[in-house]
Amino acid sequence: MTSRTVRVRYAPSPTGDFHVGGARTALFNYLFARHHGGRFILRIEDTDRKRYNSQALDWLLEGLRFLGLDWDEGPEVGGAYGPYVQSQRIELYRRHASLLIERGMAYRCFCPPERTEATSPDSEEPGAEPGDSCRCGALSAEESERRASGGAPYAVRFRAPRQGNVTVHDAIRGDITFPNEVLRDAVLLKSDGFPTYHLANVVDDHFMEISHILRGDEWLASLPLHVHLYGAFGWEPPVMAHLPLILNPSGKGKLSKREERAPDGSVRPVFVRQFRELGYLPEALVNFMALLGWSYDDKTEIMSRAELIERFTLERVNPAPAVWNYEKLDHFNGHYIRQLSIEDLAGRLMPFFEAAGYRPSREQLLAVVPLIRERITRLADAPAVANFFFDEELAPYPVEDLIPQKADAAMALAALERARAVLAEVDFRKEAIETALRAEAARLGLKTGQMFQPIRVAVCGRKAAPPLFETLEVVGRDKCLRRIDRAVEKLRSGG
Ligand code: GLU
Repeated sequence: MTSRTVRVRYAPSPTGDFHVGGARTALFNYLFARHHGGRFILRIEDTDRKRYNSQALDWLLEGLRFLGLDWDEGPEVGGAYGPYVQSQRIELYRRHASLLIERGMAYRCFCPPERTEATSPDSEEPGAEPGDSCRCGALSAEESERRASGGAPYAVRFRAPRQGNVTVHDAIRGDITFPNEVLRDAVLLKSDGFPTYHLANVVDDHFMEISHILRGDEWLASLPLHVHLYGAFGWEPPVMAHLPLILNPSGKGKLSKREERAPDGSVRPVFVRQFRELGYLPEALVNFMALLGWSYDDKTEIMSRAELIERFTLERVNPAPAVWNYEKLDHFNGHYIRQLSIEDLAGRLMPFFEAAGYRPSREQLLAVVPLIRERITRLADAPAVANFFFDEELAPYPVEDLIPQKADAAMALAALERARAVLAEVDFRKEAIETALRAEAARLGLKTGQMFQPIRVAVCGRKAAPPLFETLEVVGRDKCLRRIDRAVEKLRSGG
């Protein structure tokens, strides 16, 4: 750890939806900054105009806010090192490309753009820049000047060393040595005047006084080039830390860039927006993602944001790939759902009920939430679990469900008819309902299960439902009686 103030950045390229791989990178930067009392900076790397997606920035900012990863400097909040959007800093990159030309450390390349710009800045193989056969590096300074002032379009390439090695220290992986012979003369500035990722990233990390770079390990391959660039400018590189890869649940291959289907046909989300829409809580996602490559010890899993901040250090980041485990995330989500107060959970559930077409009052929701919160893993599950509280008519259910095991329709009918009589009279509160229905079961010589199943199915339209007496109370007497009448008819008519 250097003595510099900790300044870290999350530097996404707005090319598409906000993927959880990026969110994990943002989270580690955030936790690291907060742990050290440093600054968490958001920088938008939008210099690849071909891959630019105008919606991506909204998705990103919304996603970061949803996760509670507040940035101290960046778009919408400003800061002393701005602007924080690279397309607004183009002059700075051009000046620095010119500086390297003057120093003989870069040269103008007059090859056609197809040859110089085929590789996107996000390419994972920056060594594989096209133009290997380019001879522009051999042009004299005068010739290069003459062509440029004659208006010939050109890109700027770095004059990469070919001999020797470069050793870089990575805070997670230790020393890594790269042979220089794999380097190519990477494009720094394209002929459209826009910088490539490499130039803009290095220049900005320097001028934004970034102390540590925490980023995905797909950028390891760019590291030797970046280190040479820092050297060419005469700057000290930040501390480097390349985070572990995130694998698919099978443990084979990188976590998909697109949503996929699980073997049971359900959607496997990969974008922050999708997790939000399915009703994953930010608390659960943050806790779960923190464990993708980092651990506190070998047993503690559930940790609050404050605990994560207090405990997060790079020493405990493991370079081995981490597996995205949807079941584990579901488990975390259920845990965090049950941690919420009824009021908080009701407030978070309201939009999900509204999206499903329900308009419950706050009071109704406050009554229903305690009955369903053990039964939902994701907030979006709630309307389907609780629909019978709000629907006027139940969805059709099989008449056989009304008949308990080892019983027949006559018994179910008797149970329902007696239950109806009792429920029509009783003080409609759960304790009184319970006492009355148990007494009635005894009078009929039925086991309580035999008595309760027909009632449950008649009122809820399903065998698995929340605790019966509370449920009856919340559904309300009128609806319960109407539904029991309907079930009696069903049993009489056989369907
Ligand atoms: N713009 C790069 C990205 O989209 C940033 C990589 C880095 O953090 O240096 O991931």
